[in-house]
Amino acid sequence: MKVIANDWINHLSPYEAGKPISELAREFGLQEENIIKLASNENPLGFSELAKQAISSELAEIARYPDGAAFALKQALVEHLSAHQINASQITLGNGSNDILDLIARIFLRPGTNAIFSAHAFIVYKLATITAGAEAREVAAQNYAHDLTAIIKTIDINTKVIFLANPNNPTGTCFTQRELQSFLAQIPAHILVVLDEAYFEYADPKLATNGMQLVHQYPNLVVVRTFSKAYGLAGLRVGYAVAHPEITNLLNKARQPFNVNSLAQIAAVYALKDQDFIKNGITLNHKGMQQIIAGIAKLDLDYLPSQGNFLAIKFAQDTSQINLELLRRGVIVRPIAGYQMPEFLRVSIGTEAENQQFLQTLTAIL
Ligand SMILES: *Cc1c(COP(=O)(O)O)cnc(C)c1O
Repeated sequence: MKVIANDWINHLSPYEAGKPISELAREFGLQEENIIKLASNENPLGFSELAKQAISSELAEIARYPDGAAFALKQALVEHLSAHQINASQITLGNGSNDILDLIARIFLRPGTNAIFSAHAFIVYKLATITAGAEAREVAAQNYAHDLTAIIKTIDINTKVIFLANPNNPTGTCFTQRELQSFLAQIPAHILVVLDEAYFEYADPKLATNGMQLVHQYPNLVVVRTFSKAYGLAGLRVGYAVAHPEITNLLNKARQPFNVNSLAQIAAVYALKDQDFIKNGITLNHKGMQQIIAGIAKLDLDYLPSQGNFLAIKFAQDTSQINLELLRRGVIVRPIAGYQMPEFLRVSIGTEAENQQFLQTLTAIL
């Protein structure tokens, strides 16, 4: 079967997800309640109570197919984004924003074409590009951040898509709205620019971008956001793209008819109504970020300043041994050797108690 598979699939390495708590408990004979997971940038506060109640009342409807057009969720997003006058005809929903990244690759890429993204950028860009049989052009980063000038220089006649993550995962680095505007002004109109703002809610608006302000001006811009991070709905899988109606039509043709399930749709509608939950999460994240930065400073460890809900911490050597010692003690973080950053560990910001447990365990190991 390997012989008949598309050759480029044989060369792919599967996505390495954060280790689930249950798996670590099985592997190391630990109690689940003693384990903390700071490995997938999930929300330590869980998710909105309003969304929880909405899910409960929707349970009775599970025998029915979801609304394939997701009318209510699109309306809720139109309202949420009203400052930018986004129309429902510009919104595509995905089974997580990864679904949308994959759709974009399937629609715009094929063998003989290429997509460009930064080194150390979110790995799904590479996976989606290679799965579509296209060439993945990784551009060297500058201090781990996207080098937008170098990305422009990498464009050639076969370039169809540019993926940007802002803030980027796993580095937490950011470019500004001004830098984005100058970048977009230099990109030919026939190249699609995908701006992934998965951590938009956490970032300082003065340092990061708001792509929604630019979709009317640039018909080749797709802004992608998710309910998995600040909204705490990672397990339900729901994300969205905002773009010109022509791009939206293409995405709509190629997506699976019922790609967002009914519980995810209703949860997202109510999660959007609960902006207090988002505010609390952002406050907790800022405090937790300071707590972890102060803690690792005592250990003389360096880090990349982050605009997300995670921090890439730099060690003197390859971190696989430190990671193993953390796992043994019930602390799951994310090694990022797969991002060519073998001397880093990425830790998601947790509750104050989780951050403290991480810092104490790390101190004991070092
Ligand atoms: C977590 C993350 C996503 C979100 O993925 P979902 O499929 O929506 O859960 C997208 N982009 C980046 C850069 C991320 O870190």
